[in-house]
Amino acid sequence: MRRMFFALWVCLLVAAAAKAAPGSVRCGKLLDFRSGQMLSDLVVTFDAEGTITSVAPASGSSSATTNLSRATCLPGLIDVHTHLTSEPQSSGYAGLGISVPRQTVTGVKNARLTLRAGFTTIRNVGASDFTDAAVRDGINGGEIEGPRMQVSGPPLGITGGHCDDNLLPYEYHHRSEGVADGPWAARAKVREVVKYGADVIKICASGGVLSKGDQPGTTQYTLEEMQAIAEEAHKLGRKVAAHAHGTQSIKDAIRAGIDSIEHSSLIDDEGISLAKQHGTYLVFDIYNDDFILQEGAKAGMLPESVEKERKIGRLQRENFRKAFQAGCRIAYGTDAGVYPHGDNARQFGKMVEWGMKPLDAVRASTLNAADLIGWSDRVGSVEKGHYADLIGVEGDPLSDVTALERVKFVMKGGTVVRNDFLK
Ligand SMILES: [Zn+2]
Repeated sequence: MRRMFFALWVCLLVAAAAKAAPGSVRCGKLLDFRSGQMLSDLVVTFDAEGTITSVAPASGSSSATTNLSRATCLPGLIDVHTHLTSEPQSSGYAGLGISVPRQTVTGVKNARLTLRAGFTTIRNVGASDFTDAAVRDGINGGEIEGPRMQVSGPPLGITGGHCDDNLLPYEYHHRSEGVADGPWAARAKVREVVKYGADVIKICASGGVLSKGDQPGTTQYTLEEMQAIAEEAHKLGRKVAAHAHGTQSIKDAIRAGIDSIEHSSLIDDEGISLAKQHGTYLVFDIYNDDFILQEGAKAGMLPESVEKERKIGRLQRENFRKAFQAGCRIAYGTDAGVYPHGDNARQFGKMVEWGMKPLDAVRASTLNAADLIGWSDRVGSVEKGHYADLIGVEGDPLSDVTALERVKFVMKGGTVVRNDFLK
């Protein structure tokens, strides 16, 4: 009995320690995204709920709970396209041997890696069953460490398409749980995934790279199906993210009122002007091409997948450059899970290599990403009323964006997750 009370007491202590306390962080430098200015010596103060109460110049004597006077601070980063419950090695036939409960455990591990890499918010677009909802709920319940999450659960797609599982022959009668053909079946599937916890609806508009037997450039969902999905999702207060590599699928998805185009690889000039006209966000996952070509075969990806990536990777990067130069809205999404989790920041360097200014690349992962996921009032910038989600790096990411690959300090909602500046 006594032992039980002791255990309870320890639990209470741990719970108390995990809860945020009011505090402050002194930042040597803080990037103001709206103006593009690097501000010097500021103190960010937050309350016990982990919400920022002020951002003000440090006075000579001000003492902060955490001193980051050597660091450049930024808001916690956002990745709008992750697959926390998948690993590169689980693509192809190896994935058939991984149970759904096991995938949840993988998600728990990767949630921690992602947060510690400086990504305090993510949108997980595609997971078996509702493994991603379980990870989200564990994080929100304070049981496990991880970023703030929006999740989709199973992605919707046509029979035999990118979001179906086409590895087994007919006699297994296997289909992915998100398969829905026809406008009404697709509407019903939207209702079903919302019922089980989806914050966002993920669909497969075109063929894909890591699926068997289809081509990235071909259409899958029709315009009519996507109109039904978008209408139903919006009615239920959910946005829709459409996987679309193909030129026609991108245009159909934009016309249907989809909120973001994922991959956007083969977008043409008409697609670019449609995206601008509709204000549709484009998400170009332009880092993982390197990983798939170098490591994909070793990781067990199908030979046809590596071949598809070889055809499409460079075009995607060229079209990324075209789209942002034309003024399209770009949000930062990486397809983590196709490459190892925790390397999410490697895409910043790629975006700059393909012509984007570092400031715009970082904005894609903060202001723009927050806007896309509908959380501009709480994440994506360091300001009063937002969560105290803060990262710290050495150096200036505006002159060397790869500084973001070496995040040394992470705070989520006023709770310090890591502080390597103390080492
Ligand atoms: Zn994906």
